[in-house]
Amino acid sequence: MDYRHRFSDTESGVSVLELPAGKVVCVGRNYAEHARELNNAVPAEPMLFIKPATSLVRMEEPFLIPRGQGDCHVETEMALLIGETLTKGDDDKVLSAIAGVGIGFDLTLREVQNSLKQQGHPWEKAKAFDGSCPLSAFVSPEGIAWNDVNLQLMRNGQLQQNGNSGDMITPVAELLAYICRFFTLCPGDVVMTGTPAGVGPLVSGDKLEARLSDWIVVTTTVL
Ligand code: ZN
Repeated sequence: MDYRHRFSDTESGVSVLELPAGKVVCVGRNYAEHARELNNAVPAEPMLFIKPATSLVRMEEPFLIPRGQGDCHVETEMALLIGETLTKGDDDKVLSAIAGVGIGFDLTLREVQNSLKQQGHPWEKAKAFDGSCPLSAFVSPEGIAWNDVNLQLMRNGQLQQNGNSGDMITPVAELLAYICRFFTLCPGDVVMTGTPAGVGPLVSGDKLEARLSDWIVVTTTVL
């Protein structure tokens, strides 16, 4: 595991942030329209799952999707880099513990996931495989309006996902407070805040452009 979080600042360019890559805590169905497009119910409480550090790869570099396991969907999500430990009861500290904001792809083997769900089994083989979380460099969240962040994915020149964090069912502060009731978040952990509608399968050769408001644009290729 040699993944290192990167921090991009306008003066010095991209640099390596001295934070170990930790776990990635994800929330399912945090945008109502996305829940509907997959015919899923909107959950009463955040639905959490975890990807291990071995899921992380650099989004800017061409990335591989698994072969021979059915469709691999891309879910474009706002990613939060945790800079300070957050645990149960730290609700009033959650926003100040965010060290960076970036973009993550929650790659999902949709057919594998559907089959696991039908059997009542855990999802990890569909969501937490090696390389299942391409991640951008982070930028400072200073001055950010957490309820008004735009998130876009262009695939081969076509707009595929276009969402705004204002549509999140559980917004950022509440989501972090909820997560740390169950899982202590450590420096270097990442929280993925859920995908807006428009998820779909990737194929080898796809050219992707992911955008977070005016702060981050990443172009990449599916191998
Ligand atoms: Zn997701």
